[in-house]
Amino acid sequence: MSSYDFDLFVIGGGSAGVRCARIAAGHGARVGVAEERFWGGTCVNVGCVPKKIMVNAAEYGQWTDDALSFGWQVTKGGFDLATLKARRDAEVARLNGIYGRLLGGAGVTSFEARATFIDAHTLDVGGKRVTAERIVVAVGGRAVRPDIPGAELGMLSDDVFDMTSVPKRLLVVGAGYIALEFACVFQALGAQVDVVYRDVLPLRGFDQDIREALPEALEAQGIRLHPNSRLARLDRQGDHLSLSLIGGEAVAADAVLFATGRVPHTNGLNLAAAGIDCTARGAIEIDAEHRTTAPNIWAIGDVTDKLNLTPMATAVGHALADTLFGNNPRRASYQNVPTAVFTSPPIGTVGLTEADAVVQGPVDIYLARFTPMRHTISGRPGRKTLMKLVVCQSTRRVLGAHMLGEDAPEIMQGIGIAVSMGATKEDFDRTIGIHPTAAEEFVTMR
Ligand code: NDP
Repeated sequence: MSSYDFDLFVIGGGSAGVRCARIAAGHGARVGVAEERFWGGTCVNVGCVPKKIMVNAAEYGQWTDDALSFGWQVTKGGFDLATLKARRDAEVARLNGIYGRLLGGAGVTSFEARATFIDAHTLDVGGKRVTAERIVVAVGGRAVRPDIPGAELGMLSDDVFDMTSVPKRLLVVGAGYIALEFACVFQALGAQVDVVYRDVLPLRGFDQDIREALPEALEAQGIRLHPNSRLARLDRQGDHLSLSLIGGEAVAADAVLFATGRVPHTNGLNLAAAGIDCTARGAIEIDAEHRTTAPNIWAIGDVTDKLNLTPMATAVGHALADTLFGNNPRRASYQNVPTAVFTSPPIGTVGLTEADAVVQGPVDIYLARFTPMRHTISGRPGRKTLMKLVVCQSTRRVLGAHMLGEDAPEIMQGIGIAVSMGATKEDFDRTIGIHPTAAEEFVTMR
């Protein structure tokens, strides 16, 4: 047994940290973990989980409208965010409890406190000196405001979960995951939503066909888009806010949400004392094994700013624990990670975009665009589904699959297995479709 208090100390009780701590303890390590804010981190408390519940709430409103076309005599009443908030907060509290119990059950010693480095083996954990042979930094990220006058008047994504009523006019700044998901949610919950972003198209980095199809879907539900817009300043004018854009235009709103990205949450950790270097963007510098510049310290999850997705963080945390304590050295792959944007309709994607694939060699593109059966009946505008396969011409391997349309996240999980196994277009073609579904289009594209 080492002379340290712990074999492993994990800083941060989010998706990456909790998984790593739990699995390491299961392998017999003496593990401690510190979390200063809430067990489960961003995903459980102010991210994926409460966001998805709000997406569900938004969908009920749309389905209620659509139900009329299917013969239901329904009258849509008002929406009460306070009711949803109470139910959502209770679910988050339930999950917090589960996280705490999982750690306790695995024999992990938990500290509800902030941990900072004293040296590479010593931490100050809420005023207590703790030593560890190995340390994992899994402190996550935090949302940031843009650097403009008046930025403090706007909300960040964390603040959305404190809201008890839907603003009449919501202005969302940014066109990434968070901006677009909340834009769709709040438009469906009754707000008039404006989205201001600096590129020509939303969702930089996604496949071009998806990016080009998305604005039509957003505008069809009443969201007002302001592409090519640069921020000048945010001001309070009487009872509302006014966002001035460079060039003179101003957009008025009752609330402004800045969804302009997240940065690694390394402030105040005293990383230098442990010999840990950071990149120019403030992420902890790591090698392929997630080891930092300090040989006994690793970093995992959003603090490394690699692929900021919960399932990626848990996969990396698990692989690291197996490597360090399970006699099973392995790495989680960053290739072919499926992901979804819970817009309305949602997006699902796995593998390469067409633009990234052509860099590697010639590709064949298969594209389908159709109105799903539900909406041939509902008549709801802007609900066309887009599906796309990017196929390597020489090997026939499906390099990328992209979808904008209902159920895209659910469908893409299965497609992701095929793509990560190296399925060819002919493997897709040989698969019999499930009829009538939208998903069958992925195996019938010609
Ligand atoms: P993103 O990086 O996805 O998007 C940031 C947006 O803000 C972009 O549109 C960007 O514009 C814009 N932006 C950045 N800086 C400025 C600025 N100074 N002025 C104006 N616009 C600016 O970040 P998000 O915050 O949406 O999400 C963070 C991460 O969290 C995501 O990358 C994702 O990994 C994860 N996430 C995943 C979800 C999911 O899986 N469904 C849901 C939510 C988050 P431009 O493109 O021009 O740079």
